[in-house]
Amino acid sequence: MIEVYLVGCCVAYTRLEQVGNVTIGLGGWSLIGACVAWLMLALKLDARMVWEALPPGHARSLPASSISCRTCELLVDARLQQQPCPRCGAVLLRRKPDSLRRTTALVMTGFLLYVPANILPVLTIERFGKQEPNTIIGGVHELIVNGLWPLAIVVFTASVLVPLLKLFGLTLMLFLTRMHSARWLMMRTRLYRLIDMIGRWSNIDLFMISLLVAMIQFGALTTVRPQPGAIAFAAVVVITMIASRCFDTRLMWDAAES
Ligand SMILES: [Zn+2]
Repeated sequence: MIEVYLVGCCVAYTRLEQVGNVTIGLGGWSLIGACVAWLMLALKLDARMVWEALPPGHARSLPASSISCRTCELLVDARLQQQPCPRCGAVLLRRKPDSLRRTTALVMTGFLLYVPANILPVLTIERFGKQEPNTIIGGVHELIVNGLWPLAIVVFTASVLVPLLKLFGLTLMLFLTRMHSARWLMMRTRLYRLIDMIGRWSNIDLFMISLLVAMIQFGALTTVRPQPGAIAFAAVVVITMIASRCFDTRLMWDAAES
């Protein structure tokens, strides 16, 4: 998640500049270099290639009924269900247990927490005894006022739109699966992959808050304190990430067939 952390650092940097003169040190440039190197590695490296390099490698002759390991994607005989994967040791399951119920409960919790996460202040800046509460939208507005439109769009998308996309996307998938609908199966599967991939970008504001709270502690001059909105927002991010991991896309295809 280093690239998300780097964007969080950029947002925190713009806030720090309002307090005093800030320059990027050697550690900051090293972090940017590490992020670029990681992105290059992520573009080149195929996780399946790494797993397939480990024994027992490709399944040479697949049985009539097989299941896929959730961790390393090795196809094994379905009779090995609930036993350890021969390659990575993860427990082999035909489908994720209680997938629909768990995802439904987490999505409902996510919707409930989304409201306080966006209404309540996520941090308060105290300057000479005067308190300035900041909400997520307030932070985006501040970036726009400072002329940082690209960063404002990134933060608005990651903190406001992405959690909503995840919650409504998962709700649609749960509803259509329970209705045994065969509509848009390919599109729903692609949407799930998108939701699962972009979910971690919502951590930008959390990284920014943690950096500001740690760095701006100048007593009566300027102090930043986290507020209850940050806890609600962190809960939304974590819950939606767990919800997307709990959902089993294969259930959509099972339901359509039945
Ligand atoms: Zn495995």
